Amino acid sequence: MTQTPLDRLPLRPELKGQQPYGAPQLNVPAMLNVNETTYPVPADVVDAIAKEVRAAAETLNRYPDREFTVLRTKLAEYLSVESGAALIAEQIWAGNGSNEVMQHILQAFAGPGRSVMSFPPTYSMYPLYARGVYSSYIAGTRGPGFSQTPQDVAAQIRQHRPHVVILCSPNNPTGTALSLEVVEAAYQAAQESETMVIVDEAYGEFRQPGTPSALTMLEGRPRLIVTRTMSKAFALAGGRLGYLAAAPEVTDALRLVRLPYHLSAVTQAAACAALDHAEHLMANVERIKGQRDRILNELPQMGLTPYPSDANFVFFGGLEDAHQAWQHLLDDGILIRDVGIEGHLRVTAGTEAETTDFLNSLRNYLNR
Ligand code: PMP
Repeated sequence: MTQTPLDRLPLRPELKGQQPYGAPQLNVPAMLNVNETTYPVPADVVDAIAKEVRAAAETLNRYPDREFTVLRTKLAEYLSVESGAALIAEQIWAGNGSNEVMQHILQAFAGPGRSVMSFPPTYSMYPLYARGVYSSYIAGTRGPGFSQTPQDVAAQIRQHRPHVVILCSPNNPTGTALSLEVVEAAYQAAQESETMVIVDEAYGEFRQPGTPSALTMLEGRPRLIVTRTMSKAFALAGGRLGYLAAAPEVTDALRLVRLPYHLSAVTQAAACAALDHAEHLMANVERIKGQRDRILNELPQMGLTPYPSDANFVFFGGLEDAHQAWQHLLDDGILIRDVGIEGHLRVTAGTEAETTDFLNSLRNYLNR
């Protein structure tokens, strides 16, 4: 085997031969592969962000507010309205995307000699977060149709006694949300091993009506953490702002591991401006949910099997050759996600026109 310049570096042994995480970034007409909001940021929100960032620019000679107090207050207010749980600023933590927030949690509560558990197929970064903090990773299992029951989740936590367990609800890539019974069973089992329980609600705003958020469970559960992001519902993936809600002592603990001034003044200003327009931005969430439900309705008519979705994407099976279908769509300018599960693909719900193009291209592929 020929040696590359990378192979000649004194890399950590577990990084040798590894590939960096990342979905293709291709410039095609319909980019439906990473669950972004495909609507552009509305013009009045663009103006508000530009104004706040301009004001922040005048202060860039100084370090930003290390405690991001204004932002935390706005996030607490937003989450309280969104979920119905009464949250205060001291319960909020934020980072550059929920990826960084997760890293902070694992730096504080996992680390060398400790373990992190999640339930594949799920967000494929979880094992990589674990690797990054020198923790071992435990892959739990799911039942039929990738389902999770309270009994099964609790039994697996009791068996493995991980230091941190991550539940993803709605789950990426399958799209389905967990009932609070599953979260409660996981939490109860986790108490026996002093395990921290994370519920990753990156797609929380897209949940079906009547599905409550795990944020409503925080009260009285000091080892529960719920993570969220502005990358999806707020159409702010490029702004890089993820956050969490938990007991105030958890957010205190995260100060021990964050790098000083980790949230730039520009990031804080942009996120605050977007939060001031939350109501306007959530109008697109409703439109996206409409297209998601349209995909859920139409795929069965093509003989395909979508999974129930509480997210801004749909995971579906029933394809003979998923990669061939993916390539056909790409040739038509539509990029969706092959998550490596045989016969299955995942598509982001975009605008009405993008959804129409996706459905037409898929129909043509199946009727070819
Ligand atoms: N959690 C889940 C389940 C995700 O799908 C993603 C992004 N695809 C993230 C977390 C990270 O998002 P971000 O860092 O942009 O907040």
